[in-house]
Amino acid sequence: MGEKPMDLVEQAARTKLKERGVEISDIADLVYYLQEKYHPNLKIETCVENIERVLSKREVQNAILTGIQLDELTEKKMLDQPLQDILMKDEGLYGVDEIIALSIVNVYGSIGFTNYGFIDKQKPGILEKLNDKSSGMCHTYLDDIVGAIAAAASSRLAHRAQKLE
Ligand SMILES: [Mg+2]
Repeated sequence: MGEKPMDLVEQAARTKLKERGVEISDIADLVYYLQEKYHPNLKIETCVENIERVLSKREVQNAILTGIQLDELTEKKMLDQPLQDILMKDEGLYGVDEIIALSIVNVYGSIGFTNYGFIDKQKPGILEKLNDKSSGMCHTYLDDIVGAIAAAASSRLAHRAQKLE
């Protein structure tokens, strides 16, 4: 069976991630960070493979497009107040970004939640970059989305490894 062609929504979601400065290899580094202690011979290609599968899910593509759109509109100052300031400052009590991220984590079951919580606290690699407010960009949604994709890919990887062992 050949690969099915990528549809417009998937293409748009992947393009947006790239445009916003997130490469698959950045997310793969996060998956590696989360999983290397459990899988001593883990290869970065395995991380990439699992991310690819996560990105092929419609729920995930929708979350990416929705979150990034809100970040972009915030940068363009196109939102009404007080939401405009809340999103630009990424205010601590605003948690809708995390709810959108959970729709990604949900796809591969409950161990995704643990991974997501952990990586959201540690903020390794690309997550640290996205959280740097001095860039003038708004990544209020994107940081959670990227963390969630990594958490979901980690869960998928863990589930599959368990079946193989
Ligand atoms: Mg956030």
